[in-house]
Amino acid sequence: MHTADVVIIGGGIVGSSIACHLAAAGCKDVLVIERETAQGKGSTGKSMGGVRAQFSTPVNIQMSLYSIPFYASFDERLGYPGGYRPQGYLFCATHENHLTYLRANHEKQIALGLKNVRLISADEIRTMFPQLRSDDIVGGSFCSTDGFVDPYSAMVGFMSWAADHGTTLWRHTQVTGIKRDGQAITEVETTRGPVATRKVVNAAGPWASEVAKMAGVDLPVEPLRRMLVPTEPFDQFPHTAPMIIDMSNGFHFRPESLGFLLAWNDPEETPGYKTDFEPSFIEKILTRAADRVPIFENLAVNPKRAWAGLYEMTPDHHPILGEVPGVPGFFLANGFSGHGVMHAPATGKILSDLILAGKTDLVDFSLLALSRFAEGRMIEETAVL
Ligand SMILES: Cc1cc2nc3c(=O)[nH]c(=O)nc-3n(C[C@H](O)[C@H](O)[C@H](O)COP(=O)(O)OP(=O)(O)OC[C@H]3O[C@@H](n4cnc5c(N)ncnc54)[C@H](O)[C@@H]3O)c2cc1C
Repeated sequence: MHTADVVIIGGGIVGSSIACHLAAAGCKDVLVIERETAQGKGSTGKSMGGVRAQFSTPVNIQMSLYSIPFYASFDERLGYPGGYRPQGYLFCATHENHLTYLRANHEKQIALGLKNVRLISADEIRTMFPQLRSDDIVGGSFCSTDGFVDPYSAMVGFMSWAADHGTTLWRHTQVTGIKRDGQAITEVETTRGPVATRKVVNAAGPWASEVAKMAGVDLPVEPLRRMLVPTEPFDQFPHTAPMIIDMSNGFHFRPESLGFLLAWNDPEETPGYKTDFEPSFIEKILTRAADRVPIFENLAVNPKRAWAGLYEMTPDHHPILGEVPGVPGFFLANGFSGHGVMHAPATGKILSDLILAGKTDLVDFSLLALSRFAEGRMIEETAVL
């Protein structure tokens, strides 16, 4: 029978980062199991690649304070490209209550040590981007170290570095069961045969609750479709622009290749494994795009290039991390609610610390434990895009 010190289920960016951090900490007998023939076919390959520290809860800010500098030094640390581009995130407020909210977040971000975030006036936004319709913009918040990464490239970089340092990756292999001896984990069943192990990490992205069920654990993680629309080449808006967020309706966009990538959270979307792109979404998003950026009326879009993927949502929009109480050896790294790429480095470090040492000083991990739901300790994140 195969054996491994740690088995990671899922070879997306989260599983890859955990493998990389375990290898860096000296844990080399790690097996990552991915059911697809190639990595990145889950949420990671569908992501917009945004990374930001402009959150409203301390724990999310702290995870970004580890992750963004990690991405900034990714290429040097790992010898593979992560594609980090510090072009910033610009939140544009259109109501006084948005400003109150941004001010409160800004205070928390500064108190936790974020250096490059600042509140900015409506006039400054107008000067930065005269192309925006700004009659209702009352101010905003900008952080220059926020920006974008290339999620696929970063995932491959994490996994390649881990493989260079002893980790094994099985592709085209599905985990079909998890065996427990009374309480503790003893074995993972796969389409390549059983693997004896005492430690299993669930990094199965939107499919996390199905994997948790194999170990007899109920996990409140639901898949929710998100659609992205890339435009054809467009040069009438600067390609040095940050991610720009219209707080009046949540529409946001960023430069991508020679065009732009448009995103909007459709409130009519319902949970489920829906990965087909809905063509009627294009009109909805272009209406919002042209409303905030009038020259976007001239944008051309090829619907065949648009795509859909799945967010992994939790009830309080925070991830669920750590060992499951009552199931020794079963670790969770799930429910990133739209932030799994930007928080993959911190998640890798936290999980590696918890697996190898049972504690971490990166965050107060009890805040992110599965038990918070049963104990009524949810920590709502409102800065979700
Ligand atoms: C449209 C869109 C835009 C997004 N934009 C951003 C963004 O700007 N910034 C950001 O930080 N995040 C963003 N996200 C979220 C981000 O992509 C995810 O949070 C992140 O990719 C999760 O990574 P993961 O490794 O946990 O999951 P995944 O990448 O889904 O990987 C999980 C893997 O587990 C495998 N698997 C599942 N079950 C089994 C099994 N039984 N056996 C073996 N393998 C299994 C799957 O095949 C999959 O490859 C976006 C998501 C979408 C859909």
